[in-house]
Amino acid sequence: MISCVGKMYNTYNSFIKIKDNMPKKKNIALIAHDARKPELVEWSKHNKDILKQHMLFATGTTGKKISEETGLDIHCYKSGPLGGDQQIGARISENEIDLLFFFWDPLLAQPHDVDVKALLRLSVLYNIPVACNRSTADFLITSVLFGHDKDD
Ligand code: PGA
Repeated sequence: MISCVGKMYNTYNSFIKIKDNMPKKKNIALIAHDARKPELVEWSKHNKDILKQHMLFATGTTGKKISEETGLDIHCYKSGPLGGDQQIGARISENEIDLLFFFWDPLLAQPHDVDVKALLRLSVLYNIPVACNRSTADFLITSVLFGHDKDD
């Protein structure tokens, strides 16, 4: 039992090390539930000059709205309830997403709650920085680590 826990701990540590390798141009995922889309759109507008230096990915409706409002180039996956959260989760499990801005709705149950939970679980497992509200998003995007390059 003890060696089993040790093995899991070592595996977890190996995930943490991966984040030392974040490139300067980061792969950023943006998702917002309907009631919180205006907040993420507004935040994206405010941070457009920073965001445009990175590769952006989003669930379908979120990506379309942000792109329309900001002109940012965003790769859109399927809409969240149709599998978009799972598509982004799969990319996290392949170490292809560096940060997640996920403004989920704390006041409304979602039909795809299990997908939301799975996405948040993978984000923790793979040690992805996750912002679920604007103040955390502001801290993340202004962090010195945000502009950090693995080769710095
Ligand atoms: P949407 O999906 O961007 O397609 O609305 C977000 C979500 O509900 O996870």
